[in-house]
Amino acid sequence: MSVHRGHGAHPSTAVLTRGFDPRLSVGSARPAVFRSSTYVFASPEAAERAFNLVSGRATPEAGEVPDLIYSRFNHPNAEILEDQMVPLEEGAEWSIVFNSGMAAIMTTALALLHPGDALVYTVPLYGGTQNLIHDLLEPLGIVCRPVVAGRSAELDEAIRTTPNIKAILIETPANPTMVMTDIKRASLTASHLDPRPVVMVDNTFLGPAFQHPITLGADIILYSATKYLGGFSDLLAGIVLGVSPEINKKIRARRGLFGNILQPDECWILDGRLPTVALRMNRQSKNAQRIAESLVHRHEIRKVYYPTLFDDPDQIRVRLSQCDYPGAMISIDLHGGKAAAFEFLRNIRLAHNAVSLGGMETLVCHPATTTHSGCSAEEKDIAGITDGLVRISVGVEDWRDLLRDFEQALERVAVTVSEK
Ligand SMILES: *Cc1c(COP(=O)(O)O)cnc(C)c1O
Repeated sequence: MSVHRGHGAHPSTAVLTRGFDPRLSVGSARPAVFRSSTYVFASPEAAERAFNLVSGRATPEAGEVPDLIYSRFNHPNAEILEDQMVPLEEGAEWSIVFNSGMAAIMTTALALLHPGDALVYTVPLYGGTQNLIHDLLEPLGIVCRPVVAGRSAELDEAIRTTPNIKAILIETPANPTMVMTDIKRASLTASHLDPRPVVMVDNTFLGPAFQHPITLGADIILYSATKYLGGFSDLLAGIVLGVSPEINKKIRARRGLFGNILQPDECWILDGRLPTVALRMNRQSKNAQRIAESLVHRHEIRKVYYPTLFDDPDQIRVRLSQCDYPGAMISIDLHGGKAAAFEFLRNIRLAHNAVSLGGMETLVCHPATTTHSGCSAEEKDIAGITDGLVRISVGVEDWRDLLRDFEQALERVAVTVSEK
Protein backbone atom coordinates (compact mmCIF):
# COMPACT_ATOMS: atom_id res chain seq x y z
CA MET A 1 0.00 0.00 0.00
CA SER A 2 2.70 2.47 0.93
CA VAL A 3 4.64 4.43 -1.66
CA HIS A 4 7.56 6.72 -1.11
CA ARG A 5 6.84 9.62 -3.38
CA GLY A 6 8.14 12.70 -1.57
CA HIS A 7 10.97 10.96 0.28
CA GLY A 8 13.60 13.57 1.04
CA ALA A 9 11.18 16.50 0.74
CA HIS A 10 10.52 18.92 3.62
CA PRO A 11 7.96 17.71 6.21
CA SER A 12 5.10 19.95 5.02
CA THR A 13 5.52 18.54 1.49
CA ALA A 14 6.25 14.94 2.43
CA VAL A 15 3.14 14.69 4.64
CA LEU A 16 1.01 15.38 1.54
CA THR A 17 2.93 13.35 -1.02
CA ARG A 18 4.11 10.10 0.54
CA GLY A 19 2.31 7.09 1.91
CA PHE A 20 -0.70 7.19 -0.34
CA ASP A 21 -1.07 5.91 -3.90
CA PRO A 22 -4.39 7.05 -5.53
CA ARG A 23 -4.22 4.05 -7.90
CA LEU A 24 -4.93 1.82 -4.92
CA SER A 25 -8.09 3.83 -4.08
CA VAL A 26 -9.74 3.91 -7.55
CA GLY A 27 -7.99 7.21 -8.29
CA SER A 28 -9.45 9.19 -5.40
CA ALA A 29 -7.29 12.16 -4.37
CA ARG A 30 -7.79 11.35 -0.71
CA PRO A 31 -7.46 7.80 0.65
CA ALA A 32 -10.53 5.58 0.87
CA VAL A 33 -11.49 4.09 4.23
CA PHE A 34 -10.89 0.34 4.17
CA ARG A 35 -13.41 -0.96 6.68
CA SER A 36 -12.52 -4.61 6.50
CA SER A 37 -11.42 -6.85 9.34
CA THR A 38 -9.84 -9.44 7.04
CA TYR A 39 -8.05 -9.62 3.67
CA VAL A 40 -8.43 -12.11 0.83
CA PHE A 41 -5.32 -14.06 -0.24
CA ALA A 42 -4.39 -14.62 -3.88
CA SER A 43 -3.49 -18.28 -3.13
CA PRO A 44 -2.96 -20.65 -0.19
CA GLU A 45 0.78 -20.20 -0.76
CA ALA A 46 0.37 -16.41 -0.40
CA ALA A 47 -1.51 -16.96 2.88
CA GLU A 48 1.26 -19.22 4.17
CA ARG A 49 3.91 -16.66 3.20
CA ALA A 50 1.98 -13.79 4.85
CA PHE A 51 1.77 -15.72 8.14
CA ASN A 52 5.46 -16.61 8.01
CA LEU A 53 6.28 -12.92 7.56
CA VAL A 54 3.96 -11.53 10.26
CA SER A 55 5.16 -14.08 12.82
CA GLY A 56 8.82 -13.34 12.09
CA ARG A 57 9.54 -16.91 10.88
CA ALA A 58 10.58 -15.36 7.56
CA THR A 59 11.94 -11.95 6.59
CA PRO A 60 10.74 -10.09 3.48
CA GLU A 61 12.90 -10.25 0.34
CA ALA A 62 14.18 -6.93 -0.99
CA GLY A 63 11.18 -5.08 -2.43
CA GLU A 64 8.64 -7.61 -1.12
CA VAL A 65 5.56 -5.97 0.41
CA PRO A 66 3.90 -8.37 2.90
CA ASP A 67 0.23 -9.13 2.13
CA LEU A 68 -2.37 -7.83 4.54
CA ILE A 69 -3.90 -10.55 6.74
CA TYR A 70 -6.19 -9.27 9.44
CA SER A 71 -6.83 -5.75 10.73
CA ARG A 72 -5.62 -6.37 14.28
CA PHE A 73 -2.11 -6.72 12.79
CA ASN A 74 -2.31 -4.11 10.07
CA HIS A 75 -4.67 -2.40 7.64
CA PRO A 76 -4.30 0.09 4.75
CA ASN A 77 -5.44 3.19 6.68
CA ALA A 78 -2.95 2.48 9.49
CA GLU A 79 -0.19 2.02 6.90
CA ILE A 80 -1.03 5.31 5.17
CA LEU A 81 -1.20 7.23 8.46
CA GLU A 82 2.04 5.69 9.71
CA ASP A 83 3.84 6.56 6.50
CA GLN A 84 2.59 10.15 6.48
CA MET A 85 3.42 10.73 10.16
CA VAL A 86 7.11 9.80 9.79
CA PRO A 87 8.32 12.97 7.99
CA LEU A 88 6.70 15.17 10.67
CA GLU A 89 9.05 13.79 13.33
CA GLU A 90 12.58 14.74 12.34
CA GLY A 91 14.91 11.73 12.35
CA ALA A 92 12.16 9.10 12.70
CA GLU A 93 12.27 6.02 10.44
CA TRP A 94 8.95 4.42 11.42
CA SER A 95 5.74 5.06 13.30
CA ILE A 96 3.11 2.82 14.90
CA VAL A 97 -0.46 3.97 15.55
CA PHE A 98 -2.62 3.06 18.56
CA ASN A 99 -6.16 3.67 19.71
CA SER A 100 -5.04 6.09 22.48
CA GLY A 101 -1.94 7.76 23.84
CA MET A 102 -2.09 5.44 26.85
CA ALA A 103 -2.22 2.39 24.54
CA ALA A 104 0.93 3.66 22.81
CA ILE A 105 2.77 4.22 26.09
CA MET A 106 1.64 0.95 27.71
CA THR A 107 2.47 -1.16 24.65
CA THR A 108 5.91 0.41 24.30
CA ALA A 109 6.66 -0.11 28.00
CA LEU A 110 5.58 -3.76 27.87
CA ALA A 111 7.57 -4.35 24.67
CA LEU A 112 10.80 -3.02 26.18
CA LEU A 113 10.65 -3.76 29.92
CA HIS A 114 10.59 -7.14 31.70
CA PRO A 115 10.58 -8.17 35.37
CA GLY A 116 13.91 -7.21 36.93
CA ASP A 117 14.51 -4.35 34.49
CA ALA A 118 14.54 -0.75 35.66
CA LEU A 119 12.98 2.45 34.30
CA VAL A 120 14.07 5.97 35.25
CA TYR A 121 11.37 8.60 34.66
CA THR A 122 10.81 12.32 35.20
CA VAL A 123 8.03 13.62 37.47
CA PRO A 124 5.43 14.97 37.18
CA LEU A 125 4.20 12.63 34.43
CA TYR A 126 0.80 12.59 32.75
CA GLY A 127 -1.60 11.06 35.34
CA GLY A 128 -2.37 7.98 33.25
CA THR A 129 1.34 7.25 32.74
CA GLN A 130 1.93 7.67 36.48
CA ASN A 131 -0.85 5.12 37.15
CA LEU A 132 0.59 2.76 34.53
CA ILE A 133 3.89 2.77 36.45
CA HIS A 134 2.35 2.25 39.91
CA ASP A 135 -0.53 -0.08 39.01
CA LEU A 136 1.02 -2.23 36.26
CA LEU A 137 4.80 -1.91 35.79
CA GLU A 138 5.84 -1.96 39.46
CA PRO A 139 3.61 -4.93 40.40
CA LEU A 140 5.16 -6.79 37.43
CA GLY A 141 8.56 -6.43 39.10
CA ILE A 142 9.88 -3.55 37.00
CA VAL A 143 11.85 -1.13 39.17
CA CYS A 144 10.68 2.43 38.45
CA ARG A 145 12.71 5.37 39.76
CA PRO A 146 11.40 8.96 39.60
CA VAL A 147 13.53 12.11 39.16
CA VAL A 148 12.06 15.60 39.43
CA ALA A 149 11.81 17.25 35.99
CA GLY A 150 14.50 19.77 35.15
CA ARG A 151 17.08 18.43 37.66
CA SER A 152 19.72 17.40 35.13
CA ALA A 153 22.43 16.32 37.58
CA GLU A 154 19.99 14.10 39.50
CA LEU A 155 18.79 12.54 36.25
CA ASP A 156 22.41 11.83 35.22
CA GLU A 157 23.04 10.23 38.60
CA ALA A 158 19.91 8.06 38.38
CA ILE A 159 20.82 6.91 34.85
CA ARG A 160 24.38 6.02 35.93
CA THR A 161 23.52 4.26 39.19
CA THR A 162 20.22 2.40 38.61
CA PRO A 163 21.04 -1.30 38.16
CA ASN A 164 19.52 -3.01 35.06
CA ILE A 165 18.29 0.29 33.65
CA LYS A 166 16.63 -0.50 30.31
CA ALA A 167 14.72 2.69 29.59
CA ILE A 168 14.40 6.37 30.47
CA LEU A 169 11.06 8.16 30.10
CA ILE A 170 11.14 11.94 29.84
CA GLU A 171 8.04 14.12 29.64
CA THR A 172 9.04 17.65 28.70
CA PRO A 173 7.73 20.26 29.22
CA ALA A 174 6.20 18.88 32.41
CA ASN A 175 2.49 19.30 32.97
CA PRO A 176 1.25 21.77 34.25
CA THR A 177 4.20 24.06 35.14
CA MET A 178 6.19 23.62 31.88
CA VAL A 179 9.45 22.66 33.63
CA MET A 180 11.83 21.36 30.95
CA THR A 181 14.20 18.39 31.06
CA ASP A 182 17.36 18.44 28.95
CA ILE A 183 16.83 15.63 26.41
CA LYS A 184 20.29 15.91 24.86
CA ARG A 185 22.10 15.65 28.18
CA ALA A 186 20.07 12.62 29.32
CA SER A 187 20.64 10.89 25.94
CA LEU A 188 24.37 11.54 26.17
CA THR A 189 24.51 10.13 29.70
CA ALA A 190 22.59 7.06 28.49
CA SER A 191 25.13 6.59 25.67
CA HIS A 192 27.94 6.04 28.18
CA LEU A 193 26.20 2.86 29.41
CA ASP A 194 26.52 -0.57 27.83
CA PRO A 195 23.90 -1.72 27.00
CA ARG A 196 22.50 1.75 26.32
CA PRO A 197 19.05 2.26 27.86
CA VAL A 198 16.33 3.34 25.43
CA VAL A 199 15.52 7.06 25.77
CA MET A 200 11.78 7.70 25.36
CA VAL A 201 10.25 11.18 25.20
CA ASP A 202 6.56 11.97 25.56
CA ASN A 203 6.45 14.81 23.02
CA THR A 204 2.71 15.54 23.26
CA PHE A 205 3.03 19.15 24.48
CA LEU A 206 5.45 20.58 21.88
CA GLY A 207 5.71 18.04 19.09
CA PRO A 208 5.82 17.47 16.26
CA ALA A 209 6.07 21.16 15.33
CA PHE A 210 8.35 22.65 18.01
CA GLN A 211 10.47 19.93 19.64
CA HIS A 212 12.45 17.21 17.83
CA PRO A 213 13.79 14.73 20.42
CA ILE A 214 15.34 12.24 17.95
CA THR A 215 17.69 15.00 16.72
CA LEU A 216 18.70 15.43 20.39
CA GLY A 217 19.57 11.74 20.80
CA ALA A 218 16.24 10.19 21.91
CA ASP A 219 15.27 6.75 20.55
CA ILE A 220 11.49 6.71 20.88
CA ILE A 221 8.84 9.44 20.68
CA LEU A 222 5.45 8.93 22.30
CA TYR A 223 2.33 10.92 21.43
CA SER A 224 -1.15 11.29 22.62
CA ALA A 225 -2.44 12.12 19.11
CA THR A 226 -5.70 12.98 20.87
CA LYS A 227 -4.11 16.41 21.49
CA TYR A 228 -2.35 18.59 18.87
CA LEU A 229 -2.08 15.93 16.14
CA GLY A 230 -5.84 15.28 16.23
CA GLY A 231 -6.41 18.96 16.97
CA PHE A 232 -10.21 19.03 17.13
CA SER A 233 -10.96 17.24 20.43
CA ASP A 234 -12.97 14.65 18.50
CA LEU A 235 -10.92 11.44 18.61
CA LEU A 236 -8.54 9.38 20.74
CA ALA A 237 -5.27 8.15 19.23
CA GLY A 238 -1.65 7.47 20.07
CA ILE A 239 1.54 7.25 18.00
CA VAL A 240 5.02 5.86 18.70
CA LEU A 241 7.93 6.80 16.44
CA GLY A 242 11.52 5.65 16.40
CA VAL A 243 14.62 4.66 14.48
CA SER A 244 15.70 1.12 15.45
CA PRO A 245 14.15 -1.67 13.31
CA GLU A 246 14.35 -4.12 16.26
CA ILE A 247 12.31 -1.81 18.51
CA ASN A 248 9.76 -1.30 15.71
CA LYS A 249 9.35 -5.09 15.43
CA LYS A 250 8.96 -5.59 19.18
CA ILE A 251 6.30 -2.89 19.62
CA ARG A 252 4.35 -4.03 16.52
CA ALA A 253 4.32 -7.61 17.81
CA ARG A 254 2.85 -6.42 21.12
CA ARG A 255 0.25 -4.31 19.32
CA GLY A 256 -0.84 -7.33 17.30
CA LEU A 257 -1.21 -9.26 20.56
CA PHE A 258 -3.10 -6.58 22.50
CA GLY A 259 -5.30 -5.50 19.59
CA ASN A 260 -4.92 -1.80 20.28
CA ILE A 261 -4.23 -0.63 16.72
CA LEU A 262 -6.12 2.52 15.68
CA GLN A 263 -9.29 1.67 13.71
CA PRO A 264 -9.60 2.58 9.98
CA ASP A 265 -12.06 5.47 10.40
CA GLU A 266 -9.96 7.13 13.10
CA CYS A 267 -6.81 6.62 11.02
CA TRP A 268 -8.50 8.34 8.10
CA ILE A 269 -9.64 11.28 10.22
CA LEU A 270 -6.24 11.72 11.87
CA ASP A 271 -4.49 11.40 8.51
CA GLY A 272 -6.42 14.45 7.25
CA ARG A 273 -5.26 16.47 10.28
CA LEU A 274 -1.52 15.94 9.79
CA PRO A 275 -0.92 18.53 7.04
CA THR A 276 -2.29 21.31 9.28
CA VAL A 277 -0.69 20.41 12.61
CA ALA A 278 2.22 22.85 12.18
CA LEU A 279 -0.16 25.62 11.02
CA ARG A 280 -2.47 25.10 13.99
CA MET A 281 0.35 24.85 16.53
CA ASN A 282 2.02 27.99 15.22
CA ARG A 283 -1.20 29.98 15.56
CA GLN A 284 -1.91 28.50 19.00
CA SER A 285 1.63 29.26 20.22
CA LYS A 286 1.46 32.86 18.97
CA ASN A 287 -1.88 33.31 20.69
CA ALA A 288 -0.60 31.80 23.92
CA GLN A 289 2.54 33.94 23.96
CA ARG A 290 0.53 37.15 23.55
CA ILE A 291 -1.87 36.09 26.31
CA ALA A 292 0.79 34.85 28.76
CA GLU A 293 2.91 37.96 28.35
CA SER A 294 -0.17 40.18 28.87
CA LEU A 295 -1.36 38.32 31.98
CA VAL A 296 2.02 38.47 33.71
CA HIS A 297 1.31 41.96 35.11
CA ARG A 298 -2.13 41.18 36.56
CA HIS A 299 -2.28 41.70 40.32
CA GLU A 300 -4.74 38.77 40.75
CA ILE A 301 -2.03 36.37 39.51
CA ARG A 302 0.87 35.19 41.67
CA LYS A 303 2.78 33.59 38.79
CA VAL A 304 2.36 32.83 35.10
CA TYR A 305 4.04 29.62 33.95
CA TYR A 306 5.02 29.91 30.29
CA PRO A 307 8.33 29.10 28.55
CA THR A 308 9.13 32.68 27.46
CA LEU A 309 8.62 33.79 31.08
CA PHE A 310 11.11 31.36 32.66
CA ASP A 311 13.49 33.09 35.09
CA ASP A 312 15.82 30.18 35.93
CA PRO A 313 18.95 30.47 33.71
CA ASP A 314 19.23 26.70 33.18
CA GLN A 315 15.54 26.43 32.19
CA ILE A 316 16.05 29.30 29.73
CA ARG A 317 19.07 27.49 28.28
CA VAL A 318 17.13 24.22 27.86
CA ARG A 319 14.19 26.02 26.26
CA LEU A 320 16.41 27.83 23.77
CA SER A 321 18.36 24.69 22.92
CA GLN A 322 15.48 22.25 22.41
CA CYS A 323 12.26 24.13 21.57
CA ASP A 324 11.63 26.11 18.39
CA TYR A 325 8.61 27.98 19.85
CA PRO A 326 7.08 28.12 23.35
CA GLY A 327 3.81 26.29 22.59
CA ALA A 328 0.23 26.88 23.62
CA MET A 329 0.01 25.72 27.24
CA ILE A 330 -0.09 28.36 30.00
CA SER A 331 -0.62 27.89 33.74
CA ILE A 332 -1.54 30.75 36.04
CA ASP A 333 -1.33 30.62 39.83
CA LEU A 334 -4.01 32.88 41.32
CA HIS A 335 -3.86 34.66 44.65
CA GLY A 336 -6.75 33.34 46.73
CA GLY A 337 -6.24 29.59 46.21
CA LYS A 338 -9.02 27.21 45.21
CA ALA A 339 -11.82 29.76 45.73
CA ALA A 340 -10.16 32.16 43.31
CA ALA A 341 -9.41 29.41 40.78
CA PHE A 342 -13.01 28.14 40.84
CA GLU A 343 -14.37 31.69 40.56
CA PHE A 344 -12.15 32.22 37.51
CA LEU A 345 -13.46 29.00 35.92
CA ARG A 346 -17.07 29.96 36.71
CA ASN A 347 -16.64 33.30 34.96
CA ILE A 348 -14.87 32.45 31.73
CA ARG A 349 -17.24 32.92 28.78
CA LEU A 350 -15.38 31.95 25.58
CA ALA A 351 -13.07 29.22 26.87
CA HIS A 352 -14.49 25.92 28.14
CA ASN A 353 -13.82 24.34 31.51
CA ALA A 354 -12.54 20.94 30.38
CA VAL A 355 -9.46 18.75 30.70
CA SER A 356 -7.41 17.71 27.64
CA LEU A 357 -5.53 20.10 25.39
CA GLY A 358 -4.30 20.81 21.91
CA GLY A 359 -7.69 21.38 20.26
CA MET A 360 -8.83 24.31 18.14
CA GLU A 361 -10.90 25.61 21.06
CA THR A 362 -9.42 27.03 24.26
CA LEU A 363 -9.80 24.75 27.30
CA VAL A 364 -9.19 25.67 30.93
CA CYS A 365 -8.98 23.34 33.95
CA HIS A 366 -8.03 23.21 37.65
CA PRO A 367 -5.25 20.58 37.86
CA ALA A 368 -5.31 20.12 41.67
CA THR A 369 -8.90 18.80 41.64
CA THR A 370 -8.94 17.16 38.18
CA THR A 371 -5.91 16.02 36.15
CA HIS A 372 -3.62 15.85 39.20
CA SER A 373 -6.19 15.00 41.90
CA GLY A 374 -4.58 11.56 42.31
CA CYS A 375 -1.23 13.08 43.37
CA SER A 376 -0.23 13.13 47.05
CA ALA A 377 0.31 16.50 48.77
CA GLU A 378 4.06 15.93 48.43
CA GLU A 379 3.80 15.13 44.72
CA LYS A 380 1.71 18.26 44.14
CA ASP A 381 4.24 20.30 46.08
CA ILE A 382 7.15 19.01 43.98
CA ALA A 383 5.19 19.55 40.76
CA GLY A 384 4.19 23.11 41.74
CA ILE A 385 0.48 22.26 41.66
CA THR A 386 -1.09 24.73 44.09
CA ASP A 387 -4.81 25.18 44.84
CA GLY A 388 -4.76 28.46 42.91
CA LEU A 389 -3.30 26.95 39.73
CA VAL A 390 -5.34 27.02 36.52
CA ARG A 391 -4.12 25.43 33.26
CA ILE A 392 -5.02 26.91 29.90
CA SER A 393 -4.73 25.17 26.51
CA VAL A 394 -4.92 28.03 24.03
CA GLY A 395 -6.80 27.42 20.78
CA VAL A 396 -7.00 29.26 17.46
CA GLU A 397 -9.56 31.92 18.41
CA ASP A 398 -8.49 35.58 18.16
CA TRP A 399 -6.09 36.08 21.09
CA ARG A 400 -7.58 39.51 21.90
CA ASP A 401 -11.00 37.97 22.55
CA LEU A 402 -9.47 35.31 24.75
CA LEU A 403 -7.39 37.84 26.67
CA ARG A 404 -10.48 40.02 27.25
CA ASP A 405 -12.36 36.93 28.46
CA PHE A 406 -9.60 36.03 30.94
CA GLU A 407 -9.33 39.65 32.11
CA GLN A 408 -13.04 39.96 32.83
CA ALA A 409 -12.95 36.62 34.70
CA LEU A 410 -9.96 37.87 36.73
CA GLU A 411 -11.88 41.04 37.62
CA ARG A 412 -14.75 38.89 38.89
CA VAL A 413 -12.25 36.86 40.96
CA ALA A 414 -10.86 40.04 42.52
CA VAL A 415 -14.37 41.23 43.48
CA THR A 416 -15.64 37.89 44.82
CA VAL A 417 -12.51 36.93 46.74
CA SER A 418 -12.22 40.38 48.37
CA GLU A 419 -15.90 40.22 49.39
CA LYS A 420 -15.24 37.00 51.34
C1 LIG B 1 -3.28 13.01 27.11
C2 LIG B 1 -1.88 12.61 27.36
C3 LIG B 1 -1.53 11.25 27.39
C4 LIG B 1 -2.53 10.12 27.24
O1 LIG B 1 -3.13 10.12 25.98
P1 LIG B 1 -4.62 9.56 25.67
O2 LIG B 1 -4.75 9.81 24.22
O3 LIG B 1 -5.56 10.34 26.53
O4 LIG B 1 -4.61 8.13 26.05
C5 LIG B 1 -0.18 10.94 27.57
N1 LIG B 1 0.75 11.90 27.74
C6 LIG B 1 0.43 13.21 27.74
C7 LIG B 1 1.50 14.23 27.93
C8 LIG B 1 -0.89 13.61 27.55
O5 LIG B 1 -1.20 14.91 27.57
